[in-house]
Amino acid sequence: MAENIPGNKDESLTPERFSKLRQTAMKAKAAGIPSVLSSLEQMLKYMSPADALKASLSLNQKGGFDCPGCAWPDPDDERSIIGEYCENGIKAIAEEAQQKTIGAAFFKQHSISEMGTWSDFELGKKGRLAEPLLLKENATHYEPVSWEDAFQLIATSLNALGTPDEAVFYTSGRTSNEAAFLYQLFVRMFGTNNLPDCSNMCHESSGAGLQETIGVGKGTVTLEDIHQAELILVMGQNPGTNHPRMLTALEKCKKNGGKIIAINPLPEPGLLYFIDPKNPAKILNGGTALADLFLQVRINGDVPLLKAIMLLMLEEEQKNPGSIFDHSFIASHTSGYDAFIRQLQTQPFDACVEACGVPEPKIRDAATMIMKHNKVIICWAMGLTQHMNAVDNIKEIVNLLLLKGSIGKPGAGACPVRGHSNVQGDRTMGIWEMPPQSLLNGLEKVFHFSPPQHHGYDTVNAIKAMHAGAAKVFFAMGGNFLSATPDTLFTAAALRKTLLTVHVSTKLNRSHLVHGKMALILPCLGRTDKDFQDGREQFVSCENSMGVVQLSKGVLQPPSNNLLSEVAIVCRLAKYTLHSNHPDWMQLEKNYDLIRDYIEQVIPGFENYNQRVRQPAGFYLPNAVKEKVFNTTSLKAQFSVLPMPSIQLHGDEYLMMTVRSHDQFNTTVYGLNDRYRGIFNERRIVMMNEEDMSAAGLARHEVVDLKSYHAGEERTAENFIVVPMPIARRCIATYFPETNCLVNINAVAHTSNTPASKSVVVKVIRKA
Ligand code: SF4
Repeated sequence: MAENIPGNKDESLTPERFSKLRQTAMKAKAAGIPSVLSSLEQMLKYMSPADALKASLSLNQKGGFDCPGCAWPDPDDERSIIGEYCENGIKAIAEEAQQKTIGAAFFKQHSISEMGTWSDFELGKKGRLAEPLLLKENATHYEPVSWEDAFQLIATSLNALGTPDEAVFYTSGRTSNEAAFLYQLFVRMFGTNNLPDCSNMCHESSGAGLQETIGVGKGTVTLEDIHQAELILVMGQNPGTNHPRMLTALEKCKKNGGKIIAINPLPEPGLLYFIDPKNPAKILNGGTALADLFLQVRINGDVPLLKAIMLLMLEEEQKNPGSIFDHSFIASHTSGYDAFIRQLQTQPFDACVEACGVPEPKIRDAATMIMKHNKVIICWAMGLTQHMNAVDNIKEIVNLLLLKGSIGKPGAGACPVRGHSNVQGDRTMGIWEMPPQSLLNGLEKVFHFSPPQHHGYDTVNAIKAMHAGAAKVFFAMGGNFLSATPDTLFTAAALRKTLLTVHVSTKLNRSHLVHGKMALILPCLGRTDKDFQDGREQFVSCENSMGVVQLSKGVLQPPSNNLLSEVAIVCRLAKYTLHSNHPDWMQLEKNYDLIRDYIEQVIPGFENYNQRVRQPAGFYLPNAVKEKVFNTTSLKAQFSVLPMPSIQLHGDEYLMMTVRSHDQFNTTVYGLNDRYRGIFNERRIVMMNEEDMSAAGLARHEVVDLKSYHAGEERTAENFIVVPMPIARRCIATYFPETNCLVNINAVAHTSNTPASKSVVVKVIRKA
């Protein structure tokens, strides 16, 4: 049986498996009783009832542990005693707090090649990793190794490299602030800035666009702003699956009289209707309608849509100067307005309407709603950030907010919604291949060494460097690198060219099976696990999407006593590799307060860190934009002059976006169902518009191949089942990681270098 890597010939789609696919109509409403049942099923399937109860009562509670799922904030004030979590939060902890463990016996029984034939779902459900594992050169099975030998092997391999830049240190967004800060310190003391992270593949475009236009690479709103907004636009985001507690906040906004416009190629139920499972009245009365207006935009039609809306606003503004645009804000806080307006006026309205695929009357409705309201928030996720013009998408959003003066005031602003629980915190801690000079200066001052000044590899460039043989050791702090990255077969070849791959993980995943000449798996404590160091209980901290830093303290007994915390792993790695006792890594391992003291000295905004992180709801990091301070080159909020994106599709070509199913968090596959979209028991599916299917002569559930084209290069993914879905015309959707093999390594966003996984030009090939 072939290795089950996306892009390889897939022989697993047997008629017997094919027959398991069940498709119903899309759900009309999100959450409700089904989400409670799904949560219970997950908890009782994988956790002991006692652990399930203990964990669910502590999840996202003050003094409890932070959800290892997305980065949606918790309420500052009252948190639901019934449960401050969503169905996917429960799936995340059920996945992590599995009772089953796998160690020496399991890996003796199962070879790499055998495990390679298992699906991502099967791999993830094997159990928690119980001990460190080594794969010797040319070996077929992982075998147990002592922590000491593991660290010695890594240290020897690193110190044997020609230059520190031959090593790559990847970070997934689950890594805590404390571990992330020490990790970047260790890597820079080792001598490189090769610190790619999962943010490179998700909100890097948001960071780049916001940094340039408003002077901060983060969102500018709080949860309370969402509740108080007059109008919220939700663009390129599927909160029902990816940030489910956001639906509670949207419902609160509606209750306060706010309006919602949802913009997406798919009418995702979580954008349209929400039944709060914690509110019996809502369960009885059928829940709350969310979107007041749904705009079914074409994939990557966001810039033309926003231009069309702003043209209508300009038309009204010119009829009634000062009635639509906030000129006092524009005059005192922005620059570039005139050039922006001049270029906007050159944009033919009809071309914008045509390019975005939204009917004109609906565009007019949206423009009217925006004109009526001044406290406007725009929320977005990967649907805007994973395109070649992604940074322009973000800048165009800022243009609209600046016209309305809807930034830097309550109930208004920019809201990139982060997908991983501490991805924002990791960046704040210095996990970035392009470190700001202020960070390097701070590290030099406090730790008395000269950090490397030249920028390192981001994720795409790290893959290219490994493929070219320039990077020889790959170390990953969490994550599932192979499945999260684009161009799977290219990335697999790159990893296989390395001398050593090391993964710090809680569970088995595909990246452990696609390895360097030698490989190590270092099993770590999870977010739900208690963390005792030197006999004293420790806690870590995370930063959510809205810049709140909170403590997270595990409540469950670790599934094995041969695990180390992420902090301990970094400290020992540094001790073995650096041979320096400054800082005193062993003291830091024993007492995380000492780490936070160092963070306070180096990272702005963390004054009295140890005292403030112990406050029940944590603390907000400063965000200059909230004070209308814009740290841009002009020290003003910057209007941007942006071209229309030009993606020409020929005859039988479609634009493909990779998405998550409802039973998935990033590359972690909790199950094979996508309940809201009505797809069950199958992941090798391609969602197509029924008119496109009949135009192409494709039948419901016909099996096809997919081919992508980029810069003359072709990629193939075989055996996908066509499922009819109400998706925008000439747009198709598939799940990742199954179709990451179609995303060419060179198809990246300008400036941010983020893989363009949301607009891949593909053909749907009928089987002979
Ligand atoms: S909304 Fe996100 S952070 Fe909150 S419980 Fe759900 S997955 Fe976890």
